[in-house]
Amino acid sequence: MSNDDNSAELKVRDVMTAKVITVRENVTKQQAARLLAQHRISGLPVVNEDDVLVGVVSELDVISKKGQRVGDIMTRNAISVAADTNLDDVSHIFVHEHIRRLPVLEQGKVVGIVSRADLVREVAKNWLCPVCGEVTYSEGVLERCPRCLATDIATTSEVSPPGS
Ligand SMILES: [Zn+2]
Repeated sequence: MSNDDNSAELKVRDVMTAKVITVRENVTKQQAARLLAQHRISGLPVVNEDDVLVGVVSELDVISKKGQRVGDIMTRNAISVAADTNLDDVSHIFVHEHIRRLPVLEQGKVVGIVSRADLVREVAKNWLCPVCGEVTYSEGVLERCPRCLATDIATTSEVSPPGS
């Protein structure tokens, strides 16, 4: 059995950012704008007292809609994904809905955010051996190809030094 398809079996919960910034409907548009600017993100999930998703407020909502509170300008019926959604399905949503970030739900509650960047990071963990073509999934830098033992699998010098 080859394990080339490891990434296809990964779920959203494996790659999502669990530290998610959310806002309530009664937060002012100005506060939401500050959060978006500060954290350089394009959208914030809007939740109720029980952390249940009620909408998403995006950069576009902030600059294009009238209203003083998040509840007035947010997009209701926002697209979200379940924590156990396949990454392939998430990619599909990113491509077809032209969105960059999706709230991740577990039993209706927001438990994370998954972004295009999270998926890109996953792709980067699939190391292609330049010698034999074997693809190996590894979180860290791969020293040698497990199949042909070639050592030039990590030819890039762009790898971050430890502790960076
Ligand atoms: Zn190899």
